[in-house]
Amino acid sequence: MLKIALPNKGRLADDVRELFNDAGLEVRSRGERALTASLGGEFEAIFVRAQDIPEFVADGAADAGITGWDLVSESGRHLTQLMDLEFGRCRLSVAVRDESGIQSVADLQGSPRVATCFPRATQRFFEQHGKRVEVVPVSGAAEIAPHLGIADIVVDLVSTGSTLKVNGLREVATVLESSARLIAVDGASPRANAEDKQHKLDELVMALSSVLRARGKRYVMANVPKAQLEKVKGVLPGLNGPTVVDVLGGNVVAVHAVVDAKGIYRTVASLKALGCEGILVTRIERLMP
Ligand code: AMP
Repeated sequence: MLKIALPNKGRLADDVRELFNDAGLEVRSRGERALTASLGGEFEAIFVRAQDIPEFVADGAADAGITGWDLVSESGRHLTQLMDLEFGRCRLSVAVRDESGIQSVADLQGSPRVATCFPRATQRFFEQHGKRVEVVPVSGAAEIAPHLGIADIVVDLVSTGSTLKVNGLREVATVLESSARLIAVDGASPRANAEDKQHKLDELVMALSSVLRARGKRYVMANVPKAQLEKVKGVLPGLNGPTVVDVLGGNVVAVHAVVDAKGIYRTVASLKALGCEGILVTRIERLMP
């Protein structure tokens, strides 16, 4: 059975568990603290720290893994992403003191000190930009380094940007964009997964993608007066045009369509304004075109 390394705690772990459950790969473990679990009888999950997942996959202890792309990049291991899971989105940014005149990496002078929890990715970034820096590795809260006089610059994860702001820091460059990714050993590597394993991983990508796709959609059903059908088709474009079903003995048709969840408020209001009745909106569990 294929082994997949998954984060053992935190928000990322919760989101991953929910995604697998929604894909019909229920996480069946023998207890809260179990180190392994069955994923719907199809895969075996190994729960480890998110930081260690790139190493587990690169060393072959797991056939695939899910972790933040920031951690994959920092590991420096040759790994490839099979899928972007879209949650855990953040960016690794270079930030300077608000009052400094620095507007971009090009403005850096001399060999400034840079505090970060991502020393490798930071070193690589400044090398690529032809800048010499002294990397100061920290294990957390890099944003306080300028206040302590440890460094003038930080390279830190940013989501909303409020942590930098309250610490009087300003972003001047992005080192990388990150989110949770399904990773495996690079296909060109001698350690790459054999064809049968790759096939199982392709099936997994298809299943997880179908869940993510479905989350952004809703299924709408409505009874539509025949005279309004053309106008309703404009409101409910659907994936391949709406499904239109005759309702026996009336001048009404039932229309079904998959629509964007984002616009659902306006969609329902427009249907109602066109004289539709019996409007039903439901969530979709999986969507595979
Ligand atoms: P924010 O104030 O929203 O920009 O969040 C910044 C802080 O939250 C940083 O110091 C990070 O350590 C942490 N953070 C934000 N997003 C993530 C993420 N996707 N993964 C890990 N840590 C994150």
